[in-house]
Amino acid sequence: MIVAIDGPAGAGKSSVARGVAAALGFTYLDTGALYRTIALAALQQGIAPSDGPALGALAGATAIELDGVRVLMDGRDVSERIRDADVTELVSVISAHPAVRSALLLHQQHAASSGDIVIEGRDIGTAVAPDAAVKVFLTASPEERARRRAAQLGLPMDADTLKELAEDLAARDRADETRASSPLTRAADAIEMDTTDMTQEEVIAAIVELTRRAAPRG
Ligand code: C5P
Repeated sequence: MIVAIDGPAGAGKSSVARGVAAALGFTYLDTGALYRTIALAALQQGIAPSDGPALGALAGATAIELDGVRVLMDGRDVSERIRDADVTELVSVISAHPAVRSALLLHQQHAASSGDIVIEGRDIGTAVAPDAAVKVFLTASPEERARRRAAQLGLPMDADTLKELAEDLAARDRADETRASSPLTRAADAIEMDTTDMTQEEVIAAIVELTRRAAPRG
């Protein structure tokens, strides 16, 4: 059974997806980590962000292992490095190339075929797992998303920091929503959840409940 969780940057998808997977005993796949790893590989190998064919080849040739906690790139632990600002700035440009997306789609579909899994990203309900049993599109107000991102990065919650974070999130969402190849959009059959006034525990409980209701009774 597949639970697909999509939504804009900073909506809390990763923490929620992790919590849902733990509560249900499902595997967890963070697809953003795949795109981030290819962005890091491109940075390290000096591949131009505009070179779609070279980036597609890179995505096909890079071994990425995810165990729900650590991210390994060709055997090296890059779990923290892929969260750095230079990778975050580059990732939406890299992920817009169709050749990169199709190389990483194979990786995601392979993971999705292996049983009960919570998959989190931007195009899971629309492109990666259109037949997912549960599809959720998580949103939150731009102000709340900036606060969540500041908390995640351990940054102060002053007005300047929050404004800058909100601008970064908005720019990334614009790039993700306007790309031609599987853009960020809510699947027609996804349940939209505005989590602005919800705690993480409430969001997790709501998705767990949706999944239990969708599970075939045996
Ligand atoms: O979720 P996270 O913020 O780590 O995602 C980083 C970037 O990876 C997104 O901004 C987007 O450009 C790309 N991405 C994507 N499709 C996905 C997941 C992430 O294009 N399914």
